[in-house]
This record gives sequence, C-alpha cells and structure tokens, in this order.
Amino acid sequence: MRTVSSINTVKRIIKESRHGSIGFVPTMGALHEGHLSLIKRAKKECDFLVVSLFVNPLQFGPEEDLDVYPRNLALDQGKARAAGVNLFWTPFKKTLYPAGFQTTIAVSQISRLWEGLFRPEHFTGVCTIVTKLLHVVQPNRLYLGQKDYQQICVLQRMIQDLNIPVQLRVCPTVRETDGLAMSSRNLRLSAKQRNIAPLLYRALKAAKKRVTAGEQHAHRIIQTAEAHLKSNPDIRCDYLALCDPKTLEPIKKIEHRAVLLAAIHIGKVRLIDNILLKTP
Ligand code: AMP
Repeated sequence: MRTVSSINTVKRIIKESRHGSIGFVPTMGALHEGHLSLIKRAKKECDFLVVSLFVNPLQFGPEEDLDVYPRNLALDQGKARAAGVNLFWTPFKKTLYPAGFQTTIAVSQISRLWEGLFRPEHFTGVCTIVTKLLHVVQPNRLYLGQKDYQQICVLQRMIQDLNIPVQLRVCPTVRETDGLAMSSRNLRLSAKQRNIAPLLYRALKAAKKRVTAGEQHAHRIIQTAEAHLKSNPDIRCDYLALCDPKTLEPIKKIEHRAVLLAAIHIGKVRLIDNILLKTP
C-alpha cells in the first residue's frame, strides 16, 4: 500500500494502474468495521482500490465537532493496509483548499431537508469535497454507507445532475452487537452515554415492527419511535422523519416503502441513523 498526500502523485499512481477498474472509498478516518465493510466490498469488485482520509472542514458548521473529531493516522494506515487498500490518500487541507478557494457544489432541494435544517452548509461541503476527490481519482465505482442515508441521496442526485461518470455502490450499515450504528463519533461517547446510545436503533426497530404489524400512518409510526427516545432525558432529538426513500420528502402514510431518518444528541455527541421500512 502506498500512502500519499500530493494530488499529482495520486494522479500518477492511478494513471499507471488504469488497466483495470478503480474503486474509491472516501472517509474521514478513525476507521471502523463500517468503513472496512465498504473497503472489503470495493476490494472484491475492483482491481485497484483507493481510500482517502480527509476530515473535511467545509462540511462542519462553526459550532460543530471539527476540532475534536477523532484522528489516528497510524492506526488507520494499519487497518487500510491489512484490508488490501492499494492507495491511501491523505491530502492536506491547504492542497484541497488553497488560498483563494471559492467554488462550491450545492444540490439545492434535497440538501435542505432533515440534516440540512440543522447543518445548513453540511451537504455543500460534502458535495464539494466528493466532487474534488472524484476529479482526482476518477474511479469506476464509489462506495458509500447506508448509515448516511441522506448523503447517498444527495450524492446520487449530484452524480446524475453533473453527469459524473461513476457508479454508486451503497453498503449496508454495520452495527455494534447492541445495534448502535458504528461511527467515528461513537468514540466521543462517555461510558454512560454509550449505554444510552443503542436506544436510537431500538427506536427505529420498534417503528419497523409496527409497520410490519400493519401500521401505515406516519404519526403513529413516529410516535412509537419517539416513545423510546423520550424514555431517556439525556437524549435530545433533532428530527425523526418518515420519508419517501428517494425524494426524502415527508410522507403521511406508507404505501410501499419509506425510510425513517433520525438524528439525536447525547450530550455533545450527535448521532444519526435510519431504517428502511416496507409494508407487509
Ligand atoms: P465517514 O468517515 O464517517 O465520513 O464515513 C465514510 C463512509 O463510511 C461513508 O460512506 C459512510 O456512510 C460510511 N460509513 C460510516 N459508518 C458506517 C457504518 N456503520 N456502516 C456502513 N458504512 C458506514
């Protein structure tokens, strides 16, 4: 595995290995089994695997956790190497955002919903960095996790709207044994908060059970999940939304499929999760 920072070196190495398909997994590091599941799938499906590690300041709001976001390059490098990554790209902030940088990519409508209500510039930051990374790597396939459901919808829209020649592959959410979706941010939970955190997925699963039992009305489905979240006073909910799985517009009644999206705070840590729902 080569670990590289410079854009030109990345381009050169990728040009040399252009004979096969290229898979790309963008990450912000603190690699866990969720990231590794994307990496493993990409490794299986592609001839050359590029993983980037960049904590993108553009997607963090001024009050958010950029400064305390978990970072451990040496550990991540070891995990990437063991997983068979060919090129580990760790760009510098000043290379990606040099003085004078002023161009961003915004997907308007779908970015404004849910996460967008609480993190107004977040998806513009995501779309801008992903576009930049894709321009450099020019992969055949881009691997993303279902854990960040809205991010997938936004990036899918962007890829389509801008005719970016890449196939999107979505990988299922990897969870801890108690159901908590793996996330780099879980490292910031105290022991007490870590015990509370599985309530988020428990709430989503309770909603799913209700749908499986025949409930179709959004307010009742949401109420079921809400009851779990409200059972602990340390949980503050940003949103719990039953939506169309493609447009993410809220729905009043599930006809066939829906996605239940949730974001909560436990202390200073913000967690998101989602579950796909289908009528019986
Ligand atoms: P991040 O480092 O949090 O920006 O995540 C990098 C990629 O890994 C994104 O496509 C995430 O959706 C994906 N990812 C993060 N956590 C998980 C998880 N628990 N299961 C599956 N994919 C994940």
